[in-house]
Amino acid sequence: MLNVSEINVFYGDLQVLWDVSFEVKEKEIVVLVGANGAGKSTILRTISALLTPKKGSIEFDGRRIDHLPANKIIEHGIVHVPEARRLFPEMTVEENLIMGSLYGEAKRKRSETMDYVYSLFPRLKERKKQTGGTLSGGEQQMLAVGRGLMSLPKLMMLDEPSLGLAPLLVQDVFNIVKHINEAGVTILLVEQNVRQTLGMCNRAYVLENGRIVLQGTGCELLENEQVKEAFLGI
Ligand code: ATP
Repeated sequence: MLNVSEINVFYGDLQVLWDVSFEVKEKEIVVLVGANGAGKSTILRTISALLTPKKGSIEFDGRRIDHLPANKIIEHGIVHVPEARRLFPEMTVEENLIMGSLYGEAKRKRSETMDYVYSLFPRLKERKKQTGGTLSGGEQQMLAVGRGLMSLPKLMMLDEPSLGLAPLLVQDVFNIVKHINEAGVTILLVEQNVRQTLGMCNRAYVLENGRIVLQGTGCELLENEQVKEAFLGI
């Protein structure tokens, strides 16, 4: 479904991704793991067209997407739920959800998708007239995921959805991600919570200093000595 091939990405003169290649197949959950600064968020930003690769290609559903503008990427069915949620804090929950469904099919189906989002997150329904900035961290994360779903994505990219959440809520977030995946949405996940995410994913890639250094199934990587030492503290 998504095929990233040998991309090099820069911030100005600073190269942060080097020949990065990976794929995500339809219906999979794929995880990118790596230390702070390894380049995980940069990969997601590049797929969603906030950055342009200097070399390499990105294909989605058999089509090149690496030179399309960000709004076209969303229309192709890719949504990016960014790190730190990036909600509109002065807007209500409902208005934030509407912002996820401004165009095309997502706009036409807005009301039924919103019902679906509220069924997944009853807390958001209870707080639909409350402003985003007044929600708890966990509720804000739910709203960020809900806003992503409003665009009717085929592929949802989530950047550290568990960041800053209490352990009990972290499990809730991963359960929701699994549920969304079972409902047919392919998932590309960036996470620091390596043990839990490797336990739930189909496949994972390990990124080090902007390069993919390991790949395998979640189980394979959980057993890998390098992964154990670097991420699991074993
Ligand atoms: P983290 O979990 O800390 O976000 P990450 O693996 O997602 O880590 P990136 O945010 O992709 O890492 O950053 C990769 C590299 O690019 C780092 O060296 C970082 O300092 C640098 N970088 C990130 N954003 C910018 C920017 N806007 N301008 C310049 N350099 C940047």
